[in-house]
Amino acid sequence: MRVFAIPMRTRFRGVTRREGVLFRGPAGWGEFSPFAEYGPAECARWLAAAREAAYEGWPAPVRDRIPVNVTIPAVGPDRAFEMTKASGCRTAKVKVAERGQDDADDFARVEAVRDAIGPDGRVRIDVNGGWDVDHAARMIRSLDRWELEYAEQPCATLEELARVRRMVDVPIAADESIRRAEDPLKVRAAGAADVAVLKVQPLGGVRAALEVAEACGLPVVVSSAVETSVGLAAGVALAAALPDLPYACGLGTLSLMDGDVVRDPLRESGGEIEVRRPVVDEEALARFAAPDLDEGWRSRVVDAQAFLAGPAMVEVDG
Ligand SMILES: [Mg+2]
Repeated sequence: MRVFAIPMRTRFRGVTRREGVLFRGPAGWGEFSPFAEYGPAECARWLAAAREAAYEGWPAPVRDRIPVNVTIPAVGPDRAFEMTKASGCRTAKVKVAERGQDDADDFARVEAVRDAIGPDGRVRIDVNGGWDVDHAARMIRSLDRWELEYAEQPCATLEELARVRRMVDVPIAADESIRRAEDPLKVRAAGAADVAVLKVQPLGGVRAALEVAEACGLPVVVSSAVETSVGLAAGVALAAALPDLPYACGLGTLSLMDGDVVRDPLRESGGEIEVRRPVVDEEALARFAAPDLDEGWRSRVVDAQAFLAGPAMVEVDG
C-alpha cells in the first residue's frame, strides 16, 4: 500500500492536492482515492475497484482508442477559444452556471467554443446542477443555437431533470445523480436522462460499472474521478469494454494534476487515449509519497474493507 499526494494545477472540488492509495497485486496496480467527505460504506465501493484492478484485472477491450473531450472551465471567451483549439479534441465540454457569473458569460463561452471546434465538432455543457427547471429550459434552448450534443446535470434532482428533459429537445445527461450502482436505474425509471455518466471507483469496479451500464440501458459516457494514470486506466478499461461508445469520454483529466505516478501517463493525444495499462514508476511514487498521510489513509482502507466481503487489502493488527 503506497500513499500519494499530487498537487493540482487547477483547484477541483475545493481540493488543491489529490490524495489516495495505490495497491499492487498479482494483476497490477489499483487506485483507491475517494474524496475526503466520503464515509466508510461509500469508500468500500472505491476500494472494491482498487481490489479488482490489483487482483483480477479487467474484461477484454473491444476497441483500442477512447475518444475524450476537452473540458473548458468557466473562463472568458478568448481563453475558451484557445483551450479548445489547443486540445485537438473533437468534443468540448463547457462548464456553465458558474457562481458569480451570469447567463451572458455562458453564451459568450459556448459561442467561442463552437467557433473554435467548427461545425463538425461536438459541444456539450456541464451545469453541475446549477439551474432550476425554468432557467435550465430557457438556457438550454438558447444555447442550442450553437448545437448542443447534450446538457449534463442541468438541475440537482431527478424530478427536475425529468421535467427539463420533457421541456427541451437537447438530450440530458445525468452525472451527479449517479453515485452508486442503483442510481442509473432510478435515473432511467424517472425518465430523467438520455445519457448516463459513469465513473469506475464509485461504482465498485469495471465489472460492476459494466453491469450498471447494461442494466440501465442508456448510452454511457465514462468519466474519471480525477485520478492518477493508475485510476484512469480502469476508466479506460471500462470505456474499452463497453459494447457501444457513442460519445467522447471525460477521461482526459491528467492535465489537471501537476504530476503522475507512471512512466508513460495516460495522456490524451489527438483527442484520444490509447487503451493500455501504464507502468508505475518507483521514482515518481517516492516523489509524491506523503508519510504524514499514511496513518490516516491506512484507517480509511481498514474502515472501508470492513464493508467488503472477500480478502482484506491491509492486515488489521489484533
Ligand atoms: Mg459533470
